[in-house]
Amino acid sequence: MTLAIELEKVTGLDCRWNTDLTSFSTFRLKSQGDLVIAHDEKALAVLINILRTHKRSWRMLGWGANQVLAPVETDVLIQLDFTHDPEVLIQARDEYVLPASVGLNVLTAHAIKFGTLGWEALTGIPASLGGAIYMNAGTALGEIGSIVKSVRLMNAQGEVREEVMTPTSFSYRKNHFVRTGDIILSAVLTHGGFDTALPDKIRKYQEYRRQTQPLATKNCGCVFKNAAPTRQAGRLIDLTGLKGLSVGALRVSHKHANFMENAGGSSSEDFSELTRLINQQMKLHWGVTFELEVKAV
Ligand SMILES: Cc1cc2nc3c(=O)[nH]c(=O)nc-3n(C[C@H](O)[C@H](O)[C@H](O)COP(=O)(O)OP(=O)(O)OC[C@H]3O[C@@H](n4cnc5c(N)ncnc54)[C@H](O)[C@@H]3O)c2cc1C
Repeated sequence: MTLAIELEKVTGLDCRWNTDLTSFSTFRLKSQGDLVIAHDEKALAVLINILRTHKRSWRMLGWGANQVLAPVETDVLIQLDFTHDPEVLIQARDEYVLPASVGLNVLTAHAIKFGTLGWEALTGIPASLGGAIYMNAGTALGEIGSIVKSVRLMNAQGEVREEVMTPTSFSYRKNHFVRTGDIILSAVLTHGGFDTALPDKIRKYQEYRRQTQPLATKNCGCVFKNAAPTRQAGRLIDLTGLKGLSVGALRVSHKHANFMENAGGSSSEDFSELTRLINQQMKLHWGVTFELEVKAV
């Protein structure tokens, strides 16, 4: 039986073969490929077992806010769309059990309402909870790692385990517990108490981000990781005069030099060329090259 026929029979999966993936990343780079949306854990386990049997590789896609999709994706992209009990976020609690597919915007709305300390770190990050934990997403106000108590994962064999977080579970934009093939299913989040000043802090930071980042454009957030506090990618790219540098319809943002804006129709090839040109200039002027923060295959 072909893969497509086998998967179409599984309840809880939404399969899209050879589909246009352009709108599945915030960068909107041209991309085509196979996408399967899993609506529950049982269906997800069946999906990965079938993919394994057919020797098809797969990759997780959250909100695609930190991924450069290829013109033709050879991996099957898996997206989670698990329902979550809205009751969990209706009141303040000590701990929250949430599925990986919940959006950080929903969590920020909760923090604005109840002042859950530590959650201000999530302000303005477009992400699913799973993608944010995988990336240890964060802002100047902190990192998500500091509020994650434990994570449930499914491995490539469909087995589920729980990881309890330790002080070494996360570092800058990295986790140290997701193994190759693991899928983050859900997490238990905690907080550092309640602070009535937090909602105002979050609103001010939202406004600051609106002023300093090209949020209305098609982008993937910060392209490069900072090399050190004194070697911030955006600052050095700006000082080198590279704002506005472009390859095709892809250009370095005038608003924030560590962002690239896709004016429409760009591809991952334009992205590779633009990052190459920038790093060439960084090496020449500052003796440094920057690692990508965004995940590019
Ligand atoms: C306008 C803008 C502003 C941004 N600002 C910030 C910021 O301030 N701070 C910051 O840290 N980031 C920022 N980002 C980048 C991005 O929002 C984060 O990296 C975020 O964590 C990506 O989450 P996602 O759900 O989109 O994951 P994706 O981008 O889809 O995936 C990211 C990685 O996580 C993996 N992954 C996703 N879901 C799962 C899962 N369930 N299980 C296992 N692996 C998984 C993917 O395979 C991939 O390797 C910004 C992006 C944009 C577009």
